[in-house]
Amino acid sequence: MKIIKTANKIASELLNKKKIGFIPTMGCLHEGHVSLIRKSKKKKLLTVVSIFVNPLQFNNKKDFIKYPKTISTDLKICIKNRVDYVYLPQKKEIYPEKKIIIKNKIHFFKKYMEGKFRPGHFEGVIEVMKRLLKHVKTSYLFLGKKDYQQLIIIKKYLESINSKIIVVPCDTIRDTNGTALSSRNKLLDQKSLNIAGRIINFLKNNKNKIIESKNNLLYLKKIKEFGAKKIDYLTAFNLKQLKKTNKPSVNARVFLAYHLSGVRLIDNF
Ligand code: AMP
Repeated sequence: MKIIKTANKIASELLNKKKIGFIPTMGCLHEGHVSLIRKSKKKKLLTVVSIFVNPLQFNNKKDFIKYPKTISTDLKICIKNRVDYVYLPQKKEIYPEKKIIIKNKIHFFKKYMEGKFRPGHFEGVIEVMKRLLKHVKTSYLFLGKKDYQQLIIIKKYLESINSKIIVVPCDTIRDTNGTALSSRNKLLDQKSLNIAGRIINFLKNNKNKIIESKNNLLYLKKIKEFGAKKIDYLTAFNLKQLKKTNKPSVNARVFLAYHLSGVRLIDNF
């Protein structure tokens, strides 16, 4: 496995390599990330993992500062899973300019969910993706459904620039208690993780009722009773129509963001 720290080096290493599978991450790797790596390896792709905590997508500076970093374990996980290249850029490789001006106009999702509750977040996501994809000229891009809104936004962005990159959506990997694996779980103690498990299992068991309900008050109350401090949203969304829904269907999914013990968690099911 090669560890590459500069944009020029990764671009030249990958030059003329045909079948590349790219897994962009913010590190603190877990089985969720590993499932993406495995999918790429299974397709026999030259597998590139990037680890970069993108400051631009954090609308909250504290959240950025406390984002967990476990780089030496991450590298061991990559070696164990036969990753071919780890791209480990410093901020100046991705954002060499003094003042970063974001030109992305994300109209889509602006009013909804993460777009509404984290102003500037998706603009930051697209910006980093744009730059990473300039350095890592990939054929396949592996993205987790854990961040379904992000997956849709990136897909839409790639379509808008007529990109040939194939997006491979990957299922959410969960802990035995039902919580979606997340780097942020590292910031929670066992008691909070158990609460998160109870919340997600309760909601999953009531999925259709939540989708059909005129207002979510009953479910919001229940989430708070379990121990959540604040709920940003609990929204039923149709993935095909890309709008809110109150009709259960194969394309209807419930999206959730809430705060637990000072950590903001998202999930969808
Ligand atoms: P992150 O490091 O959180 O930016 O995530 C990097 C990639 O891994 C994204 O495409 C995520 O959607 C994906 N991912 C994160 N957690 C999981 C999970 N529990 N299951 C599947 N994919 C995940």
